[in-house]
Amino acid sequence: MNPITVNVEDKLFQNRYRVDTGRPHIRIKDAEVCTNDCAVQSCTFVCPAACYKTEGNGSVTLITDGCLECGSCRILCSDHGNIEWEYPRGGHGILFKFG
Ligand code: SF4
Ligand code: SF4
Repeated sequence: MNPITVNVEDKLFQNRYRVDTGRPHIRIKDAEVCTNDCAVQSCTFVCPAACYKTEGNGSVTLITDGCLECGSCRILCSDHGNIEWEYPRGGHGILFKFG
């Protein structure tokens, strides 16, 4: 019997996301903290939706489109407390599909 393989990218593609334009539900409070005080910048490689990105100058950018609302970034950043995190407003955000 062949093993069942699951491709994470294919599974994520099943989801749909409704953007709340101009109202991101997660916000980096102080960009300077990311650049100067956070050596590891773990949000940039732990987020399953790749919402955080390290830029060439060491700063971190956040685009919440596609966020899975897993809460990992909020927990990872608890040492610095530099993330303001809310669920999206009703009718917006991730729509999970398990097809
Ligand atoms: S973990 Fe927090 S402080 Fe560090 S880069 Fe990410 S958002 Fe910035
Ligand atoms: S809640 Fe999860 S998916 Fe959304 S930005 Fe944070 S780590 Fe990424």
